[in-house]
Amino acid sequence: MNNCEHFTLLRENIRQKALACGRDPDDVELIAVSKKQSLDKITSIHACGQKIFGENYLQEAQEKMQHCPHDLCWHFIGHLQSNKVAAAVEHFDVIQTVDRIKIARKIQLHASKMNKTQHILVQVNVGREKQKSGVLPEDAEELLTMIAQEPNIRVLGLMTMPPWSSDPEEARPYFRHLRELGEMLSGKGLFASRDRVELSMGMSGDYLVAIEEGATMVRIGTALFGTRQE
Ligand SMILES: *Cc1c(COP(=O)(O)O)cnc(C)c1O
Repeated sequence: MNNCEHFTLLRENIRQKALACGRDPDDVELIAVSKKQSLDKITSIHACGQKIFGENYLQEAQEKMQHCPHDLCWHFIGHLQSNKVAAAVEHFDVIQTVDRIKIARKIQLHASKMNKTQHILVQVNVGREKQKSGVLPEDAEELLTMIAQEPNIRVLGLMTMPPWSSDPEEARPYFRHLRELGEMLSGKGLFASRDRVELSMGMSGDYLVAIEEGATMVRIGTALFGTRQE
């Protein structure tokens, strides 16, 4: 099979799952997670029609971006250190991993300098794992209320990574929790749009369950590109 057949099959799986649970397939966006994947693979997936790519490491991403077509859209999905915020704002269309006010204020600072409106998601640690990034669910409202003061930031929605498990069903309660949190916060008018709250959840192993639970962005790496070059 060539790359496009594989890509098309994945797109079709996403579409069919959305339809099967009564959702509009256009409401589920595929984020091609290209960390530790070659430039060749990225450009061939792009040639199949994929526009949005997710990267975890700034330096790696910047190197790739120089050689990629300019119509690609890049989402930052890695852990964001405060000394890397300027570069993230400069290079990424969406930063999915904002989890503290310090980072949001730095984004505001650099976005205003660059005359940009930065789109972000707030990462939530729904599994309450010590080693994971993300604001705790009960602290999300306070964080979003503070971010709402920042004129150059638009909060599109929430992102999460549930505790790892080989059984996708184990992730379901965490996905559901993120959706319910999104609904609650949307009711308080804390997102840029009341009509559409982005929920970035689901990866190669559990994206079908995530779509059932309301994902609007699925972040898929290995199921699209194959194993990573670690
Ligand atoms: C690597 C990564 C993914 C993709 O994982 P796969 O299992 O390869 O699909 C998704 N989200 C985040 C935040 C990641 O770091």
